Amino acid sequence: MTEGEVSSTASGQTGHGPGARRKTIDSPYIHRLQRRHFLLFDILPILGTVAAVAFLAVRPFGVTDFALLFGMWLITGLGVTVGYHRLFTHRTFKARPWVTWVLAVTGSMAGQGPVVSWVALHRRHHEYSDREGDPHSPNLSGQGWRGRLRGLAHSHFLWMRRHEYPNVVHYAPDLIKDRALVRISRLYYYWVLLGLALPAVLGGVLTMSWTAAVSGLLWGGLVRIFVLEHIVWAINSFLHMFGTRPYESRENSHNGGVFALATLGESWHNNHHAFPDSPSFGLDWYRLDPGFWLIKSLAVLGLAWDLKVPSRTRIAAKRITPGSTRPAT
Ligand SMILES: [Zn+2]
Ligand SMILES: [Zn+2]
Repeated sequence: MTEGEVSSTASGQTGHGPGARRKTIDSPYIHRLQRRHFLLFDILPILGTVAAVAFLAVRPFGVTDFALLFGMWLITGLGVTVGYHRLFTHRTFKARPWVTWVLAVTGSMAGQGPVVSWVALHRRHHEYSDREGDPHSPNLSGQGWRGRLRGLAHSHFLWMRRHEYPNVVHYAPDLIKDRALVRISRLYYYWVLLGLALPAVLGGVLTMSWTAAVSGLLWGGLVRIFVLEHIVWAINSFLHMFGTRPYESRENSHNGGVFALATLGESWHNNHHAFPDSPSFGLDWYRLDPGFWLIKSLAVLGLAWDLKVPSRTRIAAKRITPGSTRPAT
């Protein structure tokens, strides 16, 4: 759904007396958009992945397919963690306007929603983490193993079918004032299409073959969306249930250090909830955090500045047991 479509609906839903503004919007129109988005960008990549495996009978997985899958995953994954998450949601650093636009476009190609909507949803997640109002908590679906399984399925995937939509006027006023960003957000579906067309064209042109173009579309496009979205969703589901908790935070977020590279640093999720304004999720140099490496590189080049890395004292003050971590719950 586009931010434009939603904000026009939002303005019609906020008139409850002067100054009153709903935090969420509920309308059949918005739920229709959510259902469409769920089918197009959550179900279709699963079917695309099945098709990619079947297509191996026509064309085996080669170096070009691997390069397109890996390259597109890295570009769009960094767009989500550095652009959507660390820059636009939490404002953990500042950057040149063209850098912010590139990050917004590459993040959009991931198929996880327009930047303005994504930011509004994620700010609401931080506001209500693991309490009523959190769009995707795994911990609110009952007790026992059944409740936990239901919670995992809800937070990983199923919540997107239909959910309360955060009012962007309330949650992302800074973003909707930025005309360029609103324009990028409105063109969301075109960016997703571009993200599918790019690997198809590259695959076809690099090898001058139609089967390679189809293979590029499947591996660099649909499989890449499938892989990245399950990585991002696993942060919402598994890391709000399992892992280590070195820092005090009021919700149930955990770190999953072994997944640091695969998640581009996002799996330091307890660190992130404890210090949401930090551009570094690893907090220490030895905790791998590719997203922060990109931000540091941009800073070295003079393209990013004002990195709000917390002081050692502030970090130490939130440590649960200095020098050790509490076992997983
Ligand atoms: Zn966050
Ligand atoms: Zn979280």
